[in-house]
Amino acid sequence: MANSKFEYVRHFELSNTTHLLPNTYIIIRIDGRSFHRFSTLHSFTKPNDPRALSLMNAAAVAVFHDLGGEVVSIAYGVSDEFSFVLRKECNLFDRREAKLVSTVVSIFTAYYVSLWPTYFPSDPLKRPLPTFDGRAVCYPTIQNVRDYLSWRQADCHINNLYNTTFWALIQQGGMTAQEAEKELMGTLSKDKNEILWSRFGVNYNNEEEMFRKGSVVYRNYGAVPESSVDDKAEEKEDGPGQISSATEASSQPAVSPAEAQKGKSRSQQKREAKKLAKAEVVIEHVDIIKDTFWDKRPWILH
Ligand code: ATP
Ligand code: ATP
Ligand code: MG
Ligand code: MG
Ligand code: MG
Ligand code: MG
Ligand code: MG
Repeated sequence: MANSKFEYVRHFELSNTTHLLPNTYIIIRIDGRSFHRFSTLHSFTKPNDPRALSLMNAAAVAVFHDLGGEVVSIAYGVSDEFSFVLRKECNLFDRREAKLVSTVVSIFTAYYVSLWPTYFPSDPLKRPLPTFDGRAVCYPTIQNVRDYLSWRQADCHINNLYNTTFWALIQQGGMTAQEAEKELMGTLSKDKNEILWSRFGVNYNNEEEMFRKGSVVYRNYGAVPESSVDDKAEEKEDGPGQISSATEASSQPAVSPAEAQKGKSRSQQKREAKKLAKAEVVIEHVDIIKDTFWDKRPWILH
């Protein structure tokens, strides 16, 4: 029909499609566009507005729920960015890069905007509206993924220590931004800790964990009791409204789903999959550079 004359343009698209390398962890990082300006427009408290960080976390949890069960294994957020680690077995959209990145960015942005009034009830969104960019990178090994996440968390620490000191010099020390910048030029971490303590009585280690460590989001598989995963139990869709914070202590060691599959009957495998799908999505503000976090949660990366 009429289509045939025009259909050839499809091939321009197909020859261009990037399928991300199979059997690798895909990390999609989204970042707010011009959030320096956006944070000023909405008078975010400096250096860290907890409302804005909580909203980022809520949008990230929505990505977990929207993509369902076993797509995202862990996410890490700081400032206006979030990194989503997709399982290496992920075959969503045949691993087409454009589909994956645009979908994650779009889910995140949609929830950021729709959840805005929950976190900023007395401050309606102004234009320009918040938007995000996104990119995908494939990492072949668990060590690469851990190093990536360590890189982001180390960055969080460096930036937050700088910003905390910078804003203390301005807000409590009465300096201008230029004076504060000059004061901090060439200083090491220990110098900034010293400035905070000696001039402002601030012990950096007592600053909020969410500011110092960022936010880690994952499915708390190990904490789901076996008894709650019975086949008769009704499948319940969990919406992005259900967000909870777990503590370090509540996470019990467990075998990974991959390990669990080995030598198990079909019904047992089904139960394991159900357990993972049922597992609550939690937000924690903990160290993910040291081994401890990973040793306690072997189901996250495998
Ligand atoms: P780009 O579009 O290139 O990403 P940007 O202005 O978003 O530009 P970033 O490097 O992404 O620059 O930095 C984000 C900025 O947003 C931070 O420097 C900070 O000023 C602001 N910001 C983000 N989240 C918060 C928050 N929770 N509280 C206060 N300020 C924040
Ligand atoms: P995918 O996620 O693969 O894009 P899809 O369900 O969105 O799946 P599309 O091929 O994009 O499939 O088709 C969009 C569908 O949305 C149409 O088939 C139609 O059913 C529906 N739709 C979109 N816009 C309208 C509209 N304005 N009025 C009625 N139906 C619409
Ligand atoms: Mg940037
Ligand atoms: Mg940004
Ligand atoms: Mg950023
Ligand atoms: Mg379509
Ligand atoms: Mg469509």
